[in-house]
Amino acid sequence: MTRLLLIGPPGAGKGTQAVHLAEIYGIPAISTGDIFRSNVKNGTELGTKAKAFMDAGDNVPDSLTNALIRDRLEDDDAQEGFLLDGYPRTTDQVRELDAFLASHGAALDAVVELEADPEVVVARLRKRALEQGRSDDTEAVVRHRLEVYAEQTAPLIKVYGSRGVVVTIDALGEIDAVTARITGALVDRGIVAADAFKP
Ligand code: AMP
Repeated sequence: MTRLLLIGPPGAGKGTQAVHLAEIYGIPAISTGDIFRSNVKNGTELGTKAKAFMDAGDNVPDSLTNALIRDRLEDDDAQEGFLLDGYPRTTDQVRELDAFLASHGAALDAVVELEADPEVVVARLRKRALEQGRSDDTEAVVRHRLEVYAEQTAPLIKVYGSRGVVVTIDALGEIDAVTARITGALVDRGIVAADAFKP
């Protein structure tokens, strides 16, 4: 049973690492950004409400996000652990997640902070814009997303830091090297790979 959270600025590689880590620990990667994007794509009511915020690089209101994540964490596959990518992003969302976990007698095992230089992430996102065509990867919106991260999300690292669960990882370098840094830091905290991944 492993409950992890990935936190870091846009472009730090959270989504990529989340996929690898989910496989290694045998838990679902839950990305609020992906859930919102699939709702936008499918034209759902939630997608319609979220789109303008996403395109502007602003956070979707907490009321919508909290309801969505509560439903997702109730799914069967999340009962044996999960990796949250991009949630929580605000102190209100931390309160919501705390209450949810407490009501299930659970807590986070570790919060992995991916640390990356803002200019490097801007360059990475410029590349992703060309490859994936995400509507929120234009330079102006990316810079705004970085500001939103600094104002609303970076303070969460202190909150979790005071609980002693944060591991800070240098997010620069090859994908596999970053994954290895994360798994190494988690082993030090007694968090090990799922059986299928053990040698
Ligand atoms: P991401 O894929 O994590 O970069 O998220 C893309 C966009 O989805 C963000 O810029 C927000 O507009 C929205 N979003 C994703 N997760 C959250 C969240 N936890 N709270 C509010 N908005 C979110």
